[in-house]
Amino acid sequence: MSELASDLAELVTANHILAREDVLDAFGHVSLRSPQADGEYFISRSRSPELVVVEDLQRYDLDSKLLGDDERRGYIERVIHGGIYKARPDVKAVAHFHSPAIMPFCVADIVWKPVTHLGATIGTDVALWDSQAEFGDTDMLVSTADQAASLARALANSNAVFLRGHGAVVVGGSLRELVMRTIQLCRNGDVLLRSLPFGGVTPLTAGEIALSGAKNLEPPVLARAWDYWATRAGH
Ligand SMILES: [Zn+2]
Repeated sequence: MSELASDLAELVTANHILAREDVLDAFGHVSLRSPQADGEYFISRSRSPELVVVEDLQRYDLDSKLLGDDERRGYIERVIHGGIYKARPDVKAVAHFHSPAIMPFCVADIVWKPVTHLGATIGTDVALWDSQAEFGDTDMLVSTADQAASLARALANSNAVFLRGHGAVVVGGSLRELVMRTIQLCRNGDVLLRSLPFGGVTPLTAGEIALSGAKNLEPPVLARAWDYWATRAGH
């Protein structure tokens, strides 16, 4: 298998893992910056992630214009991916999703903080992007280049951002890093919400987040987690 074919197979696996772990469902998507061209990315055509096969993958430029002659309908919100790859040269993979585990952080006055060692994988803060501030009443989707650029500004140099009333975006320096972060954003959020009613929740310190976050992203740790999740997803 060529290096590109292997990367695309891993993108398909990432789709299946994030579906199996209840991050993606009928909606949401995951993409990979092209390993061959920084100005391009791969993402499935408009299809639920659990069903994605390698033949569904399409190639886009960073303005999210289709490259090649595959005319099948793409995801409306693919501009999120192009906008972030444009703003963040360090980002190699992006996921956008509406997992129930994180929705309270998009609708209520609750701040997401790392409270578990695996939650540290996200970093210290997750900003909340409110489309209302710049764009007023919309259909709530991120469907224009201006909206995607605004969202990328809210993400800034962090690893995740919440979208008010909508969902979240997570970025990674690789697909494995992305999958780890995405699942842990949800898991940590779930633990935080279940702990808050008891009071006295203690977030990790900045030092703990830095040390633990780096540990969680070491290649052997990522490989162990990836193999587990991939097996659960049928790979
Ligand atoms: Zn969405």
